[in-house]
Amino acid sequence: MLTLTQRRGGLPLKAYAEKHSISFMNRFHYRTLVRSVALLVSLSASSQAEDKQTTNKQFYKGKPLKVLLVTGGCCHDYKFQTKALTMATEARAPIEWTVVNKGGRGTHAEIELYNDPNWAEPYDVVVHNECFAKTKNPEYIRKITDVHKKGKPAVVIHCAMHTYRDAKIDDWRDFLGVTSKHHEHQSKYPVKVTKKDHPVMKGFPENWTTPKDELYIVKGTAKGMTPLAIAASEKNAKVQPVIWVNDFHGTRVFGTTFGHTNGTFSDQVFLDLVARGILWSAGKLEN
Ligand SMILES: [Zn+2]
Repeated sequence: MLTLTQRRGGLPLKAYAEKHSISFMNRFHYRTLVRSVALLVSLSASSQAEDKQTTNKQFYKGKPLKVLLVTGGCCHDYKFQTKALTMATEARAPIEWTVVNKGGRGTHAEIELYNDPNWAEPYDVVVHNECFAKTKNPEYIRKITDVHKKGKPAVVIHCAMHTYRDAKIDDWRDFLGVTSKHHEHQSKYPVKVTKKDHPVMKGFPENWTTPKDELYIVKGTAKGMTPLAIAASEKNAKVQPVIWVNDFHGTRVFGTTFGHTNGTFSDQVFLDLVARGILWSAGKLEN
């Protein structure tokens, strides 16, 4: 396997660049290439390690589930998160992923996907891991929530809770199950399970502390929302729901406000949790 001393033809990186008279710009590109290779090597190594860990961790063994991931927008490494999430969940259940990463890296976008009224038709579940706080067009938002209201199960992660934050209508927040407008600083937050008997929480550790992540402040919850776990503010000790399920007009929605860092998306407890949430929302969680 390629070692991370990043040798090329037996030469250390710098010597290789000099021997081949790589110009400053090319060296820059070369370094970028090496970094990308290193990332792929580390993902592949963690995937192999994970495969070993998860051989007995099949949460569902039936027909492959078609899952759409909608991602993109501000403030997070969505390329890494997507790779980590899709690889980890595929190891835990037969899942066929479709990924839509659109809208750039800003806080406002209206993506093409939702213009088709049947946008979610081919999928069993939709995972929302996008971050567009300043998009507030009610018609656009309802193209999304109406599909879920009609029965398309969903999983909502981290900044999905701050997406459409500036909207005047509550449709998205009713769908999520929570209203959150801001978060507290990054820290390692101890998580306390409040509903141990919920199928999603089976096997969740008694004492799990997040990798560095943000604590979202939840100022309101929807009627159908049930908290599954909480975490406390380091500023005022007030507890916040951090994992929950929501009954949105009869549609199952699973949510967590964690997922800011790549550390969280590399954590096996978090990845188990999201995999279970996906399967539960589709009514396919087997054990
Ligand atoms: Zn964040």
